[in-house]
Amino acid sequence: MESQGKLSQRVLLSLGSNIDPRVNIREAVRRIGTLADVTPLRVSSLYRSERLGDAATTDFHNAAMTILTEISPDALLTALNAIEHELGRVRTVRWGDRTIDIDIILFGDIRMDTPRLTIPHPGFRTRPFVLLPSIEIDPTFHDIDGTPFTELLQHAVGRCERLEGTSPPLF
Ligand code: ATP
Ligand code: CA
Ligand code: CA
Repeated sequence: MESQGKLSQRVLLSLGSNIDPRVNIREAVRRIGTLADVTPLRVSSLYRSERLGDAATTDFHNAAMTILTEISPDALLTALNAIEHELGRVRTVRWGDRTIDIDIILFGDIRMDTPRLTIPHPGFRTRPFVLLPSIEIDPTFHDIDGTPFTELLQHAVGRCERLEGTSPPLF
């Protein structure tokens, strides 16, 4: 609460799934929006993207979401991991098949690097499936060094297309 002197931060989240992806991404968005001390702001359309590496067996669906929150990055990651767990996420190999993956891409202007949490997310700058839905939500998104997402997108690699007819709240 403002009266307790805490600052609200705008957080950019990236969601991905390749197991029942429409259901799982929609349900994750719903659960994130009902977390304590989280105000949902915007959700992108759905995008279809090629998997990273060879661990996963199919393409992914991805979306981006913005929220306002006063809780810490660590507490938010704990809450997001709990949602991943509730939706049946099993961690086997990195970039493998998963019901839901929720990454923290930006957390206000915060920069942090701990064993558990790196913000901004270390991999996002070259990932079109993060950049495209984020730009849809807010074309002015930029990295903490000031580089616009639209510029990062020019160097991003991989197939990623917006799925027609998936604008929220339809998908
Ligand atoms: P990638 O991180 O390359 O997108 P992934 O999402 O498949 O791969 P996970 O197995 O979901 O990888 O996460 C690995 C670890 O990354 C988690 O245990 C988490 O602590 C850590 N992590 C570090 N920074 C972040 C971040 N910004 N958002 C989410 N998880 C993070
Ligand atoms: Ca990820
Ligand atoms: Ca992750």
